[in-house]
Amino acid sequence: MVIEAKSLHKRYGGIVAVKSLDFGVEKGRCYGLVGPNGAGKTTTMKMIYCIVLPTSGSLRVFGLDVLSHPRQIKARLGVVPQENNLDPDLTTWQNLMVYARYFGLPRPLARRRCQEQLDFMDLSDRAGTPVPDLSGGMKRRLIMSRALVNDPELIILDEPTTGLDPQVRHLIWDKLLELKDRGITLLLTTHYMDEAQKLCDEIIIMDQARRVDVGSPTELIRRHLPPYVLEARAGRRLAADILGRFPEISHQESGQSLYFYGSAATDFDGILAAWPRVEHVLRPASLEDVFLKLTGREIRA
Ligand code: ATP
Repeated sequence: MVIEAKSLHKRYGGIVAVKSLDFGVEKGRCYGLVGPNGAGKTTTMKMIYCIVLPTSGSLRVFGLDVLSHPRQIKARLGVVPQENNLDPDLTTWQNLMVYARYFGLPRPLARRRCQEQLDFMDLSDRAGTPVPDLSGGMKRRLIMSRALVNDPELIILDEPTTGLDPQVRHLIWDKLLELKDRGITLLLTTHYMDEAQKLCDEIIIMDQARRVDVGSPTELIRRHLPPYVLEARAGRRLAADILGRFPEISHQESGQSLYFYGSAATDFDGILAAWPRVEHVLRPASLEDVFLKLTGREIRA
């Protein structure tokens, strides 16, 4: 196990951020922590990369206890934090070199690693660019390069693609899958269920400081929902009308949307015949539906 958490607990004053959390992360796989805002995902990550101390319970990374071996753990992992914490007074290259030197790499090795990681993230032509002149996507790619300079066995990414355009998101996804192919273990948080579904072998769903469920995306979908969903955009009055007439079809409401669940696409024939003009989409159940069902909340866009 690369990470092993048992009854992990974190309290900030009166706030319980993580409660009785158990999970394990196996080598060479990608794990996703998903959950609504404030669920405790970032706190869990910060305990793993040893900048927040657990209040109680046990947390081992590479078999080492986070309380007794933080330096040894930090040396073997890479972190892509939620916020952009690049040094704005330095260039792309200087940001990488400062980091490489922080890990104590001798200068020739540091130079080689920095160049490799710039090439890997397609940033070589930006080596001399000051950080404020980089686009949002370039800054994110630089943070990823920086997380790789110490040749980590585990990479922790807190919302790696939030706010990025689709092209950069796809590029980052490709790079992460490439890293996984090399045997590197990945742990990420995301609010994008398409991202979780594309990248993650295992998903840990958290809500209100606790683990709600864990499994592969397909396992979670099968466990919690029938295979078909009719998503209808109906105003409140129409929604009340539909629900009144078809109480036997399982459903959820969220904002202006109604989600009906069925074991066959034909389960919704009655609804569509009664409201032929309702704006709707018929689709397979997704991780987003599971999220909604388990946490009762929509994902922050
Ligand atoms: P988001 O999706 O918004 O990033 P999250 O799931 O990562 O949320 P955390 O950031 O871990 O959640 O926060 C969990 C809880 O702990 C929240 O109630 C938050 O306000 C609280 N919290 C986090 N950091 C601190 C801190 N340094 N001091 C006090 N409370 C904190």
